[in-house]
Amino acid sequence: MQNLMANARIVLVNTSHPGNIGGAARAMKNMGIHNLVLVEPRDFPSGKADARSAGAQDVLEDALVVDTLAEAIQGCALVVGTSARSRNIPWPLLDPRETAAQALAELPKHQVAFVFGREDRGLTNEELHLCNFHVHIPSHEEFSSLNLAAAVQVITYELRMALLAANEGDTPKPIWGTQWDEELATNDQMEKLFEHMAQTLIEVEFLDPESPRQLMARLRRLYVRARMDRIEHNIMRGILTAIQRTLKKLR
Ligand code: SAH
Repeated sequence: MQNLMANARIVLVNTSHPGNIGGAARAMKNMGIHNLVLVEPRDFPSGKADARSAGAQDVLEDALVVDTLAEAIQGCALVVGTSARSRNIPWPLLDPRETAAQALAELPKHQVAFVFGREDRGLTNEELHLCNFHVHIPSHEEFSSLNLAAAVQVITYELRMALLAANEGDTPKPIWGTQWDEELATNDQMEKLFEHMAQTLIEVEFLDPESPRQLMARLRRLYVRARMDRIEHNIMRGILTAIQRTLKKLR
């Protein structure tokens, strides 16, 4: 059988404590997930990470270290961001079990990333806006923030449970339909679309770069929620190019 988890990656952003990286690696290996991507870790490689990984050193050795979250999620068509608290513009929110069901349905088709934030302040709004869904582990409201490696354990455990259930013939039901005729656009294609959209909206004087407000965040939410496919993505790019061409002629 195809190793579905080969398409899953765990992304840790700006981790301060190398022990948490080791703990996350161990949690991942326990649940059969190998791909770890570290965005600007403060201290890595590190003896502390190795010690806490307790035998999951192969995960650490193969970990990819990159500079930005955009690089870390390159090529993914499903990106799930974890969040310990609610944010200013709410995104489609799943619980860990729903997340696992959704991811399991998509893993045979494309790459899926699960993004975890900094120990002290989680993920920024901009980072959360790169995601299709957010997932919140329903912890106690008065003490809602889990240790980073513990949060990785909860999410990867749910993935493991979803996989085991599917192997038993009891496939969990995804939230969003996954029968689609075209491949979905990847995160990097969506980023190029958003850049192009912002540029065009500035040219038609709909977006004021001096006072952008939440316009691009709202549009991002619309388009990541739509789960655009590649053809739809190409059509949108084509429309934007046509608008720019016509504007140029008019000037
Ligand atoms: N004080 C931070 C919490 C950071 S905890 C904040 O307010 O955002 C470090 C990371 O662990 C988070 O970025 C997230 O990836 C994960 N995490 C912790 N608790 C979580 C929860 N209840 N649900 C989902 N992810 C959680």
